[in-house]
This record gives sequence, C-alpha cells and structure tokens, in this order.
Amino acid sequence: MYIEVVVGLPIDKAFTYAVPKELEQDIEIGKRVLVPFGRQQQGKPLQGYIVNILLDSFSPTYKVKDILKILDPKPILTPEMLKLTQWLATYYLSTWGEVIESALPIRGTSRTSQRSHTGQTDQACPTSYPLKLTAEQAQALETITPYIKNNQFKVFLLHGITGSGKTEVYLQAISEGLKAGKGAIVLVPEIALTPQTVERFKSRFGETIAVLHSKLSRKERLLQWRRIQAGEAEIVIGARSAVFAPIENLGLIVIDEEHETTYKQYDATPRYQARDVAIMRAKFNNAVTILGSATPSLETFYNTSINKSIYLNLPCRIDHKPLAEVEIVDMKEEHKMGNYGIFSNKLKQEIAVRLKRQEQVIIFLNRRGFATFIQCLDCGATLKCPNCEITLTYHFHDKMLKCHYCYFQKTAPEVCPKCQGTQIKYSGTGTQKVENELQKLFPQVKISRMDLDTTKKRGSHENILSFFQSQGDILVGTQMIAKGLDFPKITLVGVISVDVGLNLPDFRASERIFALLTQVAGRAGRGQRPGLVIIQTYNPDNPTIQFAKTQDYHSFYANEISFRKELNYPPFAHLANIIVKGKEEEHTIKLAQTIAAHLRMMNKAQTSLILGPAPCPLTKIKQEYRWQILLKGSPKSLQELLKTVSARISIPKDLKITIDIDPIGLL
Ligand code: ADP
Ligand code: ZN
Repeated sequence: MYIEVVVGLPIDKAFTYAVPKELEQDIEIGKRVLVPFGRQQQGKPLQGYIVNILLDSFSPTYKVKDILKILDPKPILTPEMLKLTQWLATYYLSTWGEVIESALPIRGTSRTSQRSHTGQTDQACPTSYPLKLTAEQAQALETITPYIKNNQFKVFLLHGITGSGKTEVYLQAISEGLKAGKGAIVLVPEIALTPQTVERFKSRFGETIAVLHSKLSRKERLLQWRRIQAGEAEIVIGARSAVFAPIENLGLIVIDEEHETTYKQYDATPRYQARDVAIMRAKFNNAVTILGSATPSLETFYNTSINKSIYLNLPCRIDHKPLAEVEIVDMKEEHKMGNYGIFSNKLKQEIAVRLKRQEQVIIFLNRRGFATFIQCLDCGATLKCPNCEITLTYHFHDKMLKCHYCYFQKTAPEVCPKCQGTQIKYSGTGTQKVENELQKLFPQVKISRMDLDTTKKRGSHENILSFFQSQGDILVGTQMIAKGLDFPKITLVGVISVDVGLNLPDFRASERIFALLTQVAGRAGRGQRPGLVIIQTYNPDNPTIQFAKTQDYHSFYANEISFRKELNYPPFAHLANIIVKGKEEEHTIKLAQTIAAHLRMMNKAQTSLILGPAPCPLTKIKQEYRWQILLKGSPKSLQELLKTVSARISIPKDLKITIDIDPIGLL
C-alpha cells in the first residue's frame, strides 16, 4: 500500500510513502503519520498528514520509504477540513501541509497557562434565558433561521451599533441551530478583550460550549479539540483560528465585529482572512455565516449591495439610550488663539467639569509607532500621491516625500503649497507626553496609561483597567482602549490625534478611522449621564470626520466606495503584496526590482496592475530593510502571476520574501 503525505514545510507537494503490511489496516485519510524525511538514507522523523491512498495498481519507479508510525487512532482531519485547507493553500499561496499545521491545535507553546480557561465553567454561572426579541431582532432571526434549517448556504450582514441587540440574535440563531442538531462557531476579535460576551454565551449554553483561548496551553487546546470532535461541545467561541474548530455538523458561523483587523493573520503563513475562510467553510457545509458589525468593512457592505449576501439592520439601541454627542475642535483655530499645546481649550474645560463631578475621562490617541507625514499647522493640508491618493511619507534622511505604493517622490516643501504657511509639522504626539501634560494641568488626578509600553507584562492590561475602574480619573491610551470598555462613569472621550490615523499611507485609513471613532464614541455615556466625544483635528472638513460626527455609516460608505471604485481598490480589485526583506539594503532592492521586472514581463496581457517596488512605509524593522511590490487584479490573475514568479525566481539565502494575498494593512 502506498499513501500520499503532506508535511508542514514550505514545499508545495505531497510525498509518496509505503505502508508496512502490519500498519495497513489502520491507514485512513486525515490521520497523522510519522515519516522519515530528507535526503539521507534514514531521513529525519517528521510528522505528516495522510491526504491520499494510492490505487493498488500504483507501482513506484523509484525507491519509496516506509512510514514509521501512525499517530492517530481516528483521523484528526475530516474530509471537509482537508478540502478547506486545500482551498486555503491555493488561495493564499501556502503549502497544504503548512495550512493544516496552522489549523490544528498541535503547534504553539506547551507551557501551561496561569489561569484555567477551559470550556468547563469554573463556577456555575447564572443561566440566562432567551429574551423576547424586538421586532427588528425577530425579523433578523426569522430571515436567518430557515437557511440554517434547510441546509442552505447564505451570508448575512447584521448591521447595528453596540447595544442594538446583535448578540441576542446570534444566541437565538445558535439555539435554532442546536434544535436542528447543528453546531456553531462564534469568532470574536480577541477573547481577552471580550470577557462579557464569552460569559453570556457560557451562561446561555453551559457545558456544550468550548472556549478556544489564545492563552490556552497546547495541552488544553488539544483537550478542547477532542471535546469538540467527540461532540461534547457543539458550540465553539474563540478568536481567529477557532474558524478551524472541528465541529462536525456545522450550521452557523458568527463573526462578531467582522470589520476588525485581527481576523486577518498578517504575521505568519498562511496569511488568511478568517472572515473569508468562514464564508468558504459555510459554503462547503451548506451552512450560514452571520457577519455582525456597527461599521461593516467596505467589502462586506458592498456584497450586500450586489445581493451576494443579505442585509439585516438593527437601527437603534435596545434601551433607546442616545448615542454620545460628538464635537469637533479645529486645532488651527486654537493656534490662531496662541494655544500650541496638545489640548484644546474646549477639551481642557470639559475634562475639568468631569473631574469635578467625579466622572471618568478617556483620552484616546491614534498612534502607530511612526507618524512621518507632514502637515501644515496653519491650513491642515497634507500631501497625497497624485497616482494613488494615499498620503506621502516623509523620509528624514533625504528630506523626500515618497509614495509607498508606486514610489512617486518629491522634495518636501518648506512652505505649504496651499496656504504658503511656514509652520510645518513632522510627527504626532506620544501617549507619555499626553500623560505628562495632563498631570501638569491636573496635578491631583489619577491618570492611567495603556499602550504597548505599559502592557508588555502579562496581566498588566487587566491591572490597568481594574485600577482605572475602581479609582482612576483619566485613562490615556491607544487603539487598545477603544474596544469593549463598558464603564458607566465614563462621560467624556477626547480624541487627540485623529489626523495621524487619517493620513496613514494606507487606502483603508478612512475606513479604520471611521470604525475607530464610532467605537470610541461608544465608550462614553453608557451609564445614566449622556456622553460627549471631542475630536481634535486640523481637518474639521474631512468627510470621514464629518460622517463620524453624525455617526452616519451609510453616507460614509457611499463616499468611500466611490473612491475605491475610482482607483480600483478593494472590493473592486484584489491586492497582493510582495515584501522583500533583508539586512543588506542593496540586495533587498535588487531582488525587489528583479521580481517586479519579471512580473511585468509575465503580465503582458495587462490582467494585473503592478506597482513598485517601493520601500514599505515601515522601511526598516529589526535591522531588516523592507521593500514591497503591490499587485492589483482578480484573484485568479494574481495567483497565476505569483505562481510563475515563485517558480522561476530563486531567493538568495540572505533575503526573504513574503506574499500577502488580500493584505489588510500596507505598512
Ligand atoms: P450588541 O451585541 O449589538 O451590542 P446586545 O445583544 O449585547 O447588543 O444587547 C445589548 C443589551 O440589551 C444587552 O444587555 C442585552 O441583554 C439587552 N437586550 C438585547 N436584546 C434584548 C431584548 N430583546 N429585550 C431586552 N433586552 C435585550
Ligand atoms: Zn503612488
């Protein structure tokens, strides 16, 4: 007997092995096997996955090695999972074995976690019962349920702000599925940030739920996996990789906050988008996917507009509590009045009022490690690439402004081309500086800071939040405080540097900022008192900021989608980003150029658009130079183009390339 085995290495083929007679009766597709691997006579033992059993008539024309051992009593991969992982490998240009390894709970740390997050509830939580649905919720549920019961593939967008009752719809849709004998997967952006959601699922469904936590040890993860496989858990809740959970009779996949970037694995192969995998998986299983969001991604909303998926809307909050009011402060006016500080007078006043009333304040900074666009402080102008409409990045060493998509460049002006102003600013403000300034303004108050620096240690995240909740006055933080916080005493949110986010050299910058501002605004006024949000900006007329002020998603979408269409960005085209990395700048550039030239040669029919090479916006990370080539086209044309490249270009030892299909960020 001969079988085909794939292994978790970047080698895109299946290997043929012979099966010793005594192991033959235990061979099944989907089981793991130990195989000798490598050139040597014996080879190194390596774990592989049986993907095919060859016909009896197969007779090899070369020497085939024997497998060493079968590792599973039962297949760990179902036929469905094999099909799904094969699709992933093709789409994301990974190898089948690599995809399988990342889908299974067998990789990763083997440390034991400090706290137990196993599916068994630690203490019995109070049971929660289904609520009587509002008319909108009922309509959403009634639309979804028949598809689950009739085994009909369908994607739904459940659009509604926080507190509009989306989770209750997920819960009841899952119940309907359970009644029909079907399991469910619920994806949340990050388990650690959504404890309340997880608790609600546990208290509704009790023992039949498994929580796949990223902090689970490998052993705990395997345990959960086995519980799910054995049918003991019919519902799985987890982050991105839970999309691969081995639920057998899958009826429904829910993706909460579907617009969140954490659903894309951007830092390891396969660079998959869990949202798209979920949709594919639902398709293979004749199941349903519900995408929930207050600010759907452009792709998701676009799909409803072309009837690829069904739009469901929950237009208001269950308790009819009004949204926080949003005010915009023009920082140019502040400068005219001689205030060149971080805080506008309005924000300072409002902070003082809250402190007096013993309410809490959040100061939010939108900051990513670097902020090297330039901006005129008098008129707020920034400079964009004439070809790509993305912000030009300022490079200190040669004082040039560069486009990171197409490599357009020009010298940085000394006076503003728009208003002739000479006050040109080169970077943003850090959280530490904000904290110091606040402490100077309000010496008596307790300020907490939450950013990458203060949350490096395990548990620090929780500590900062519990301190703030119990006795803090002001919480200063970055992106990570935008999500999930539900503290009734917060009545004011100040947004300091919205311009940094608007001007990131990324075509998704506006989408991100709109979602972020909506989310941040949701932090204020969750208790009895109404909330206020103050956004400080140099561009008060920027459409995204205006739409955020009225929290008007539909107008935002209409505006943004026309920009995407005009420049052929997603959802109108797919992107692939090739990043070349290396310690030697010259070698890195040279390889990037070679690849780009090759791509252009292969692209004679012009089915794709090839931009670059250009330095990545984060040009150097950890001593490595990074250059990118950006491709636009259909998935098929991109795949074909990229395949020929990886087949024909040899990568020198000192360089690395990564290919990211449907990249989420281009930094
Ligand atoms: P979302 O997921 O959109 O943030 P939730 O489902 O969490 O919204 O609902 C917000 C709050 O309203 C929760 O406290 C929830 O228990 C409550 N709620 C949801 N649906 C109903 C309902 N039909 N009747 C009463 N309360 C509800
Ligand atoms: Zn450009």
